[in-house]
Amino acid sequence: TGSKLPGNKTSIFSVMSKMANEYKAINLSQGFPNFETDQELKDLVTRAMNNGFNQYPPDIGVQALREQISRKVESLYAKHYDPDKEITVTSGATEALFNAISAFVHKGDEVIVLKPAYDTYEPTIELNGGKPVQIQLKGQDYQVDWEEVREAISPKTRMIIINTPHNPTGTVLSSEDMLDLENILKGTDIILLSDEVYEHLIFDGLEHQSTSRFPGLAERAVVCASFGKTFHNTGWKTGYCLAPRELMKEIRKVHELTVFSVNHPMQIAYADYLKDPQHYLELSGFYQQKRDLFLNLIKDSRFTCTPSSGTYYQLLNFSEITSENDVNFAERLVKEKGLAAIPVSVFNINQKDNSQLRFCFAKTDETLEKAAEILCNL
Ligand code: PMP
Ligand code: GLN
Repeated sequence: TGSKLPGNKTSIFSVMSKMANEYKAINLSQGFPNFETDQELKDLVTRAMNNGFNQYPPDIGVQALREQISRKVESLYAKHYDPDKEITVTSGATEALFNAISAFVHKGDEVIVLKPAYDTYEPTIELNGGKPVQIQLKGQDYQVDWEEVREAISPKTRMIIINTPHNPTGTVLSSEDMLDLENILKGTDIILLSDEVYEHLIFDGLEHQSTSRFPGLAERAVVCASFGKTFHNTGWKTGYCLAPRELMKEIRKVHELTVFSVNHPMQIAYADYLKDPQHYLELSGFYQQKRDLFLNLIKDSRFTCTPSSGTYYQLLNFSEITSENDVNFAERLVKEKGLAAIPVSVFNINQKDNSQLRFCFAKTDETLEKAAEILCNL
């Protein structure tokens, strides 16, 4: 058929959620909460609809929302982004990532991707004729080997993609990591694409090291963020990106072609809701409690793990339970035991020999208890 993405299969998130429904399994696979978004926020959306915000908003996003985003980012990361020129509201972080890659990656360009990597990066690079250059994260803690990154840079390197807190591993980049990266990129014209959708889900007193905090990174970076992850409404598909104005100018050209503009009433509502920083600052504590509950519930199981430092995912190693690969084990788990999880190898370089599953703990305590009971009996 002349497919432009011959290697692409249906996303593992769709596959696993569909299977979970089919087998009436507890769904800890695709990353979304099974509890409601705040009633106050839903009321703000209803009010916006009743107040007539039902036609196209400005293509770059509602001004009040861009102003609130600017204020939030400045208060957290001490970096000012001009709401008119440096912030665009997008249809989730997915669109922001797509726009950034499409705006800057030419045919034959290389893009450095750290593996395991979120599943949209590489197909989007390929769709634009670029070539992903994969670097595996190292060790149990999935550290970046920055020397390897330095060595992977060639005259063709157009972009490098990072993701902190990291999906699926739950690791976070430290300020030393960011300084190493700043050093490596100094004197190059490489664009940094920084996926920070889990910026407000970070545990054990760690601080999110946003790319925005580092001048040598921010000057060349597109930062992508998602309200869906932060405000428990992934189905509203609203996010944003930040970038210096010269870069943003190009991203907006693609944004006008992909979606033109994003849902109006939600933007009005978020603009109001963001005025109270508690709405996002309390999130880490909330999810840390969920992580701790989940880990405590499975502590007598045969799974082993390093506790997640961020995101709402926990990797569990099952090598003491079975020697089958993660894809087979995940399939058996959903069909025979009624529990869905994500096999990690689908995001990795070496797709065999992997014995980790990713579990989403953005679930009610009751759901986590039921899931843990299954896990403890394996
Ligand atoms: N990046 C990462 C690392 C993700 O896990 C996700 C899923 N939320 C996205 C991007 C896409 O975010 P959104 O749902 O806002 O499109
Ligand atoms: N980001 C979510 C996850 O990692 C899923 C997003 C999607 O379904 N495309 O599970």
